[in-house]
Amino acid sequence: MGTPTPEIGEKMKIVLLGAPGAGKGTQAVKIAEKYNIPHISTGDIFRKNIKEQTPIGVIAKSYIDKGNLVPDDVTIEIVKNRLAEDDCKKGFILDGFPRNVYQAEALLNITELNVVLDIHVPTENLMARLTGRRVCSGCGESYHVTTLEGRNTCARCGENLYQRDDDNEQTVAERLAVYHKQTEPLIEFYKAKALLKTVNGDQDADAVTAEVLNVLERL
Ligand code: AMP
Repeated sequence: MGTPTPEIGEKMKIVLLGAPGAGKGTQAVKIAEKYNIPHISTGDIFRKNIKEQTPIGVIAKSYIDKGNLVPDDVTIEIVKNRLAEDDCKKGFILDGFPRNVYQAEALLNITELNVVLDIHVPTENLMARLTGRRVCSGCGESYHVTTLEGRNTCARCGENLYQRDDDNEQTVAERLAVYHKQTEPLIEFYKAKALLKTVNGDQDADAVTAEVLNVLERL
C-alpha cells in the first residue's frame, strides 16, 4: 500500500517568490482566503512595527527606506516565531521570505515546504508597476494609478489609498538591484530541490490567480 495522498489543505506550505512589484501580495491574499491558511508577509510585519514604533520597527525602517534588506538575524527570528504558532500547522503562505540564500537555508531548518511559486514579470515592467502602485490603508489591496482614474479610496473596503514610502523611483531602483543580486538566485536554489513552479505574472491579476490555483490543485 502506498502512502495516502494528503488533502490539499495539508500540502499548503508555500513560498511565493518574485521580484518586488510582481504581485506576490495580491496573490498571497487570494491563496490565503481560498485555503484558509495564514498569509505571512515579512514586509507587512516590518511596516506594522514601523507604524507602532517598536524597536524592530526602528531597525527595519533604516534599511527599508534605502531599499536594502533588513538584517537576516532579525528577519529569520520573526519568521521562526511566526511559523511556530498553531495556525501555521496545516499550512501557510510566505510572501517576501526568504530573500537570499542564507534565509532559504535557515528556512530549511525551520519547516518543510510543499511548493515554491515564482511569479515572473519581465524586469522592464517592474519600475512602472511599483512607482504607480497605491495600497489600501485598510485591507492592503493594491491598485495602479492607471486604473484608478483619480479615485483614492479602496473599491473593496472604502478606506484611503496611500503610496508606500519605498515605492519612489530611487528606492525602487535599489530594491530591484537587491532582488537581482540576492533573491533571484533562489530560483535555481528551489529548482534544484524540485520545489519550483513558475507562473506568468505579466497578465491580469485574476488570470495570475487562476494559474496559481491550477498549480496548487495539482500538487
Ligand atoms: P515587501 O513588502 O516584501 O516589498 O518588503 C518591503 C521591504 O521590507 C524590503 O524592501 C526589505 O527592506 C524589507 N524586507 C521584507 N522582507 C524581507 C526579508 N525576507 N529579508 C530582509 N528584508 C526584508
